[in-house]
Amino acid sequence: MGEFPFKGRLAVLATMHRKEQAIAPVLEEMLGLRVEVARGLDTDRFGTFTREVPRPGTQLATVRLKAQAALAAVPEADFGLASEGSFGPHPWLPWVAGGRELIVLMDRDGGFELVGADLTAETNWGSRLVNSVADAVAFTQDIGFPSHAVVVIGVHKGEPDVSKGVYKGLMTTEDLEAAVRIVLEQHGAAHVESDMRAHVNPTRLQAIERATRDLVRLALSGCPHCGRPGFDVVERREGLPCGACGLPTRRVRLEIVGCVGCGFRQERFPATGQTPASPGECDACNP
Ligand SMILES: [Zn+2]
Ligand SMILES: [Zn+2]
Repeated sequence: MGEFPFKGRLAVLATMHRKEQAIAPVLEEMLGLRVEVARGLDTDRFGTFTREVPRPGTQLATVRLKAQAALAAVPEADFGLASEGSFGPHPWLPWVAGGRELIVLMDRDGGFELVGADLTAETNWGSRLVNSVADAVAFTQDIGFPSHAVVVIGVHKGEPDVSKGVYKGLMTTEDLEAAVRIVLEQHGAAHVESDMRAHVNPTRLQAIERATRDLVRLALSGCPHCGRPGFDVVERREGLPCGACGLPTRRVRLEIVGCVGCGFRQERFPATGQTPASPGECDACNP
């Protein structure tokens, strides 16, 4: 493993929502890391899905802050570990919901960091403004209820407003109906959405596990020059020739893999190979 052995070392995880269920078995089995949860760490101060606390920065900046907080909470830990999800319209498929999960493993002096990622359309993320208990119950069937929890939020001027009441982690029809009834009585409408917290959202937990496996892939990908883990694509060059006219397209022609430790770089063909691009992807043939 070169200069960064993982076996037997302690990684401390920032979570209040039982993410260790998805993360710990993978890292323990694949890397031999010991994973412990940073007890008593309030990760909600780095943002909540339900809008009470805004995220302090980008998704990557936030996940780093969480990992640093875990390290600060457990002085004997070798690594800090945290994950952060982001949900919304899928970047490539705007008509479907998508999720991006990041997981970071960093050492104490900040000189070593790996970031695993999972980008997926497999998410139950969704929300709706409803005017009746029946509409609320019907909508929750679309977002995985009751195997996945839902949240009911008060409404102000047609928008969800947590200052008007927020009911999280609803997993029974009885609790859901009661919360919707209270909010409807007070505001005339209720905002219903999927609860994205990992411990009440098995689909999200699976995405976190996939991101963890991506982290393992990086951890096991050592630099051929110095052995440092995390040898991965640092640049993609477009220009794969069109199969019809031969002109360069926006498809990736070459990947550059590099080491952030020693700066060693290598060129390689993408996993999709050197097969020419189809004329449909060519600006000249298909303007
Ligand atoms: Zn062409
Ligand atoms: Zn290197």
